Amino acid sequence: MPTSQDGAGEDSVLHGGGGRGGGGGGGEGPRQVWVPGPVIVGAGPSGLATAACLKARGVPSLVLDRDACVAASWRERTYERLRLHLPRGFCELPLAPPFPPGTPPYASRNQFIAYLDAYARAFAVEPHLGAHVRTAAYDAAIGFWRVTVDESSSSSSSGADGGGTASTTEYLSRWVVVATGENAESAWPEDMDGMDGYRGVVMHTSSYKRGHEFAGKKVLVVGCGNSGMEVSLDLCNNGASTSMVVRDKVHVLPREILGISTFGLSVFLLKWFPIKWVDCLLLFFSRLILGNIEKYGLRRPKSGPLQIKCSTGKTPVLDIGSLRKIKNGEIKVVPAINQFTENGVEFVDGRREEFDAIIFATGYKSNVPSWLKEDEFFSESDGLPRKAFPHSWRGKDGLYATGFTRRGLLGTSYDAAMIAADIAHRWSSALAGPAATAAHGDHHQRQR
Ligand SMILES: Cc1cc2nc3c(=O)[nH]c(=O)nc-3n(C[C@H](O)[C@H](O)[C@H](O)COP(=O)(O)OP(=O)(O)OC[C@H]3O[C@@H](n4cnc5c(N)ncnc54)[C@H](O)[C@@H]3O)c2cc1C
Repeated sequence: MPTSQDGAGEDSVLHGGGGRGGGGGGGEGPRQVWVPGPVIVGAGPSGLATAACLKARGVPSLVLDRDACVAASWRERTYERLRLHLPRGFCELPLAPPFPPGTPPYASRNQFIAYLDAYARAFAVEPHLGAHVRTAAYDAAIGFWRVTVDESSSSSSSGADGGGTASTTEYLSRWVVVATGENAESAWPEDMDGMDGYRGVVMHTSSYKRGHEFAGKKVLVVGCGNSGMEVSLDLCNNGASTSMVVRDKVHVLPREILGISTFGLSVFLLKWFPIKWVDCLLLFFSRLILGNIEKYGLRRPKSGPLQIKCSTGKTPVLDIGSLRKIKNGEIKVVPAINQFTENGVEFVDGRREEFDAIIFATGYKSNVPSWLKEDEFFSESDGLPRKAFPHSWRGKDGLYATGFTRRGLLGTSYDAAMIAADIAHRWSSALAGPAATAAHGDHHQRQR
């Protein structure tokens, strides 16, 4: 059985007609490579977990990633002080041993990256890096997905856009697994009047690394989700004078209640009680532990935190110390921005203030609509599967999605296991011959 990444080797190159093929050199079209197993787009936790689950079932796969390393979202686009938001037991990938002994309950960014590296090694998942997927489209005439990839030969670059020599390859596979994540691109607000004229530093939290670079500076953080709160705390701890824009209502919960993680407690209670009751309990304890946060400009939404998570995917803030800084005035809560000025901003209440830097903690978005030529399974508006968990993992014609459940790494584990089982079934049917494939196809049609 071929290994995970050698399924697309030399002997798999299609020297197709019509000017295609020819090994990437002087042909008219891109080099074509037939991949016997699925193509997995993205080498983050979701892509790695799916490749590992497939491998455990004897199915080879080709994992592609635009960046020059695995887990690039964690390595390249997170800040140094980041820790897992959830206890490590809820962040383990399928079939893996637990985190090494001595790992704290909330593993640091570096510990989580080391865990992912070890996971990839343990399952011998060797992604093809610097492989930026530009398009993936199903070709009904041949029953294959055509995945067009810009490939960078420079391993030190940050992907196919980052230098080195580039070439284009078209991979053909029966199956495509989308694992590019809910957080593939930074999301910026649309209305940013006057930003071009602002002379200070502007960045997104995906580029923010560490607070001491801002020591002694006046910094405005735009957004009050988990990232906004954590970056504000980091800035404050490193001597920056920090203000945080709070425009929307927000649920802030203690990270732990009675020594138990709030997330773990919620998961446990939801097994026994309706979501409304669990929300009431969480809010009761939050009030007890954190006090009335509305006094500090943090208005709570009418619906409970879990109800909001279920209906919109928006995660409540799990407080790791920012609230104390807000209470004692070290982090100033300010209203929404009306417009930028040359040296700062004007808020919606008309007040103007100068800032050396403005950091947007305005979240992330999926990039699937930019490259996947399909709009039945994935929504073009938000780039997420139209079907909610637990039905968000399988589309049609061999299309799969992992890591789009809005349930973090627990959702990833579920998707990876389901996808691997489904593809493995089809894979063995295909090996058994056309009759078995047809019978299996009928079976699945009936199940839908
Ligand atoms: C700050 C932060 C903290 C989080 N903490 C937790 C936590 O504690 N627990 C938890 O369960 N979840 C957490 N999450 C949510 C989620 O689990 C992580 O975002 C996780 O990294 C998602 O894994 P993924 O593989 O789906 O996506 P990603 O890790 O984003 O990986 C996607 C990969 O796809 C690649 N890619 C994208 N587009 C292309 C393309 N066109 N071609 C080729 N490659 C492409 C990217 O380079 C990237 O490597 C957190 C998220 C954030 C932002």
